Amino acid sequence: MTVSKNDATEIAIIGAGIAGIAVGNFLATKFGVRDVILIDLGRPMGFTSAQSGENYRNWWPHPVMRQFTDRSIDLMEEIAVACGASLNMTRRGYALATRQENSDALIEQLYASYEDCPDRLIRIHKGRKTPDYVPAGQGPWHEAPNGIDVLQGGDLISGIFSGFDKSVKTVIHIRRGGDISSQQLGQFLLERFRASGGRLLQGRVRELSAASPFSLKIETSEGTRTLSAERIVIAAGPFVQQITGMLGITLPVINVVQQKIAFADGAGAIPRDLPFTVDLDEQRIDWDADERNVLSEMAHTTWLTEPMPGGLHCRPDGGKNGTWIKLGWAYNKFVSEPSWDPPLDPHFPEIILRGAARLHPALKAYYGRLPRQMTHYGGYYTMTEENWPLIGGLGVDCAYVVTALSGFGTMAACAAGELCASWVCDATRPAYANALSLDRYNDSRLMHELHACADKGLL
Ligand SMILES: Cc1cc2nc3c(=O)[nH]c(=O)nc-3n(C[C@H](O)[C@H](O)[C@H](O)COP(=O)(O)OP(=O)(O)OC[C@H]3O[C@@H](n4cnc5c(N)ncnc54)[C@H](O)[C@@H]3O)c2cc1C
Repeated sequence: MTVSKNDATEIAIIGAGIAGIAVGNFLATKFGVRDVILIDLGRPMGFTSAQSGENYRNWWPHPVMRQFTDRSIDLMEEIAVACGASLNMTRRGYALATRQENSDALIEQLYASYEDCPDRLIRIHKGRKTPDYVPAGQGPWHEAPNGIDVLQGGDLISGIFSGFDKSVKTVIHIRRGGDISSQQLGQFLLERFRASGGRLLQGRVRELSAASPFSLKIETSEGTRTLSAERIVIAAGPFVQQITGMLGITLPVINVVQQKIAFADGAGAIPRDLPFTVDLDEQRIDWDADERNVLSEMAHTTWLTEPMPGGLHCRPDGGKNGTWIKLGWAYNKFVSEPSWDPPLDPHFPEIILRGAARLHPALKAYYGRLPRQMTHYGGYYTMTEENWPLIGGLGVDCAYVVTALSGFGTMAACAAGELCASWVCDATRPAYANALSLDRYNDSRLMHELHACADKGLL
C-alpha cells in the first residue's frame, strides 16, 4: 500500500514479524478494529521470524509461562483446524533426557508448573515394560496423548529410545509439544488481518513523536511520509529499543545471538518419529586429546574445553519421508547490539554436532564431515533477564509494546497478539496479563522468585 503524504490511522503497529502480525490479526478479528496499519521496512516475517526453529511446547518452569503458552497452543490448534494441513502441526512432544537417576526435583517442578492445568496428568513409568506408555508417532496432532510421561531406568529407556546413549536414566516426555510451519502461521494471520481491512505499509520508521496522536516519519521507496496514529504498538523485535527510545523509554531488554543447523541425515542417525529431544545435562564437548590441547592453549577457544550448559536439542524435520534434522543450542550469553546481519560463528556447526552426539551417538558419523548443503542460521533472542516477554502499556498513554519473545516467539505469538490487542482495546485480560507486562517489575515478590530460579526455560 502507499500512504498519501499525510495519512492518519487509528492504530499503527511498528514491525511485521510474527508478533506485530498477530497483534494486527487479533485487533481486527477479535476486537473489530479495522483501521490498523502494519509497518515494516522489509517483507513481513522476514527478519527474526524467518529464523525460527518452529518448535512449540507447554513445558515451562513457572505456571505463568505454562498458562501463556497453553493459551497460544489452544489458538494455534484452532487455526490448524481452520486451515487444514497447511500449518504442518505435529505433536511428537518434547523428550527431556538426563543421566540423573533421581528425578524427584524435576518431577516436583512439573507439579508446580502444571498445578492448575486441566489435564494435569503425570504418569510415572518404571520397570522393563510400560503397557500404558504411548510412543511418539507420525499420527495427527489431535490424536497424541496429553499430559506428561516420566520414564525411569536405563533398560526401559533404551527399549523405547534405542538411539539414546546408554547413560540416560530418566526421560520426561512432555506430550503437548511439537512443531508447526511458522511462515504458514504468519501468512494465515496476515491474510485474516488484511481481509478484515488491515493495511500493510513498507517503510522504515525514522521518527516518532512522544505523545498521542503520534506522528510517525516513515522512509518509503517513494520518499518520507508522515502518518498520524492515535495509538501505537511497538513490535520491532531486536530493534525495539530504537523505537521506544524515540519515546524516551529504555526497556530491560537485551539481544543475544543464537544459532541452529539443519542438514539431510543421509546416515539415518535420527529416527523419523523421534520427539524434539533435549539433553538436559551439562557436558564437556567430545574433542579428541589433540583437539582439546589446541583449543585449551588459545584464550579465545579455552571455553570450548570447559563445561557447556544443558538444553541442546535435536529433532527430525519434514515428516516420515523427509531426511532433514535440526539441531539447536542456546549456549551463547554475549549481549550484542542488533544488526540487520546477525553474526554467526563458523565453528558452531561442529560444536553443536559434537554436543548432540552425546545423547545421539550415531551422529558421530558426521564428525568433520557435515553435509555441504547444511544450513547454518541464527538470529537474536530479544529477551529480558528472566526470559519472560513484555506485553502491554509502555507508561505513555496509547503506546504499547510486544517484545522479548526470546526463543519462544513462534509458539507464543497467538497468545501474545491476543493479549497485546486486549491491552490496546482495554478489554478483559487473562490472569497472567500483569505478570507479562512492565507491571511485574513493581511486584518484588514475583521478581525475587524469578531471579532465584536458575531455570529460565531457555532453549
Ligand atoms: C535461531 C532461532 C531459533 C528460534 N526457534 C524458535 C522456535 O523453535 N520456536 C519458537 O517459538 N520461537 C523460536 N524462535 C524465536 C522467534 O523466532 C522470535 O521470538 C520471533 O520471531 C520474534 O518475532 P518478532 O515479531 O518479535 O520479531 P521480528 O521477527 O524480528 O520482527 C520485527 C520486525 O520489525 C521490523 N522493524 C524493526 N525496526 C523497524 C523500523 N524502524 N521500521 C519498520 N520496521 C522495523 C523488522 O524489519 C522486523 O520484521 C527462534 C529464534 C531464533 C533466532
